[in-house]
Amino acid sequence: MQSQIKPSTEQKSQRPVVAIIGGGVSGGGVAYHLSKLTGGGAPEIVVFEPRPMLGRGLAYDSADSAHRINVPAAKMSLQPDDVEEFQRWIKANDAVRDDPEAAHENGQLFPRRRVFGDYVGSLLQPFLKSGAITHRRATVTAVRRVHDGWVILDDKGGLTQADIVAIATSHPPPAALGRLAASLAGHPRLIADTTKPGALEVVRPQDRVLVIGNGLTAADVIASLARNGHEGPVVAISRRGLRSRGHAAAPQEAFGDFIAEPATSATELLRKVRLTIRQAAEQGLSWHAVIDQVRSQGHELWRALPIAERRRIVRHLRPYWDVHRFRIAPQVEAVLDTAIEAGRLEILAASVADAKVEGEAIRVILQPRHARGRLERIVDAVIVTTGPAHGGILETQPWLGELAREGYLALDPTGLGLACSERSEALGPDGQVISSLLISGPLARGTFGELMGLPQITEHTVFIAREITEKLKDAERHNSRPISGRSVVL
Ligand SMILES: Cc1cc2nc3c(=O)[nH]c(=O)nc-3n(C[C@H](O)[C@H](O)[C@H](O)COP(=O)(O)OP(=O)(O)OC[C@H]3O[C@@H](n4cnc5c(N)ncnc54)[C@H](O)[C@@H]3O)c2cc1C
Repeated sequence: MQSQIKPSTEQKSQRPVVAIIGGGVSGGGVAYHLSKLTGGGAPEIVVFEPRPMLGRGLAYDSADSAHRINVPAAKMSLQPDDVEEFQRWIKANDAVRDDPEAAHENGQLFPRRRVFGDYVGSLLQPFLKSGAITHRRATVTAVRRVHDGWVILDDKGGLTQADIVAIATSHPPPAALGRLAASLAGHPRLIADTTKPGALEVVRPQDRVLVIGNGLTAADVIASLARNGHEGPVVAISRRGLRSRGHAAAPQEAFGDFIAEPATSATELLRKVRLTIRQAAEQGLSWHAVIDQVRSQGHELWRALPIAERRRIVRHLRPYWDVHRFRIAPQVEAVLDTAIEAGRLEILAASVADAKVEGEAIRVILQPRHARGRLERIVDAVIVTTGPAHGGILETQPWLGELAREGYLALDPTGLGLACSERSEALGPDGQVISSLLISGPLARGTFGELMGLPQITEHTVFIAREITEKLKDAERHNSRPISGRSVVL
């Protein structure tokens, strides 16, 4: 394997090399905190990211003005110990001057998602300028073990040797459509991946639309369609017909305690959550305060649960958790409410039983969840919003599959992402710890529990940066640089 890797030019460095694959918030955040922690004696930090800017990733690269952050700006910060930094940055930079809708009537700010990407980018900028962080604008195509280090190949023909690798690729494209793809193959208004820029442009103003999935992506899609002048009827389906909830009318402190005596089963946890919601209500607080506490104590709470109980939660409770924990921005909620009131948006608990193309239209047969009879709808467009396919992560990029086959990665037993240790080190199929391969961000949530929203992700990036620092110090103490610390960019 090694003989195939022949760099034509080499830039030798005496510094250890940390390679981060994926430059969204999870990857950019690790690079940022690692640079801050290590200061002058820093390792060489190379972030692989094909997007033009680091720190945006899938969520904050959107140019769609209907896409807003779904957590108030006052809670979205790259600094876990300074949660209001983003809010201050917005004010200092007058960053919502062209967006009067950003401020909700209760005073909270929900700017467009791109603004958050601008903020993260601005924090990274000085480190990129000084050379502390290198943005390698390329897609990684292979990661191979060489001695005790790693060799990374990318689609720009680059080869980089690294001592430590952090995988922060997070959100893969949505899962393949299965039978529906075959039935609707070639239809111009079957939109299977809404993350592709301009994906919704094919929908015409009067089109009848079926949206499959009913979470945050569906809410974004419906808001974007409305913003684009779409006026046709929309039916949005999901297995349980649940819809992402909005935020509390006024900000509240998190309420409850789920870690003093942590639940050891899914049933016990559910009982505790329900009881705490009743106790919160007695104090005039809504369920939001309780779910916020579950979220912030998510890691410890998750750790107390045996794997079988974690699996039960994923199987039975996750859909309910998702709609309460992922909340939609009030501006987006208002668009959905208006559409429901006007009879333009119908939300159903149903699945697609059959679909076929008839001329330009699509005849869809729906199987409602609680009824034997089927429903029929004629639509002009089908939009899939079932979200990223984290469970199939090893099949989404060949190099991830290759690392798994070579024994360096495995799927987490809950199916939520990649198996990792409590130090966020990758685990091989037999549970062996791969100490120089770390998992940053949502792909580590099988071990860390709630690790999808920005507040938990930033905490995790600090954690990973500290872990890397410790590992580098250990290597230095033992005078054992794993490999020669060479980054080669062709
Ligand atoms: C549409 C959407 C909106 C969201 N909105 C919010 C919100 O408002 N508030 C909130 O708290 N949370 C939100 N989230 C949750 C989200 O998980 C986090 O906030 C955060 O954006 C996750 O960032 P990430 O870096 O982990 O992942 P990603 O954003 O998925 O970034 C991963 C990056 O890896 C890169 N990559 C992938 N493969 C390779 C490769 N082979 N080589 C090099 N680079 C690669 C991709 O280009 C991508 O930029 C949202 C999530 C989504 C999907």
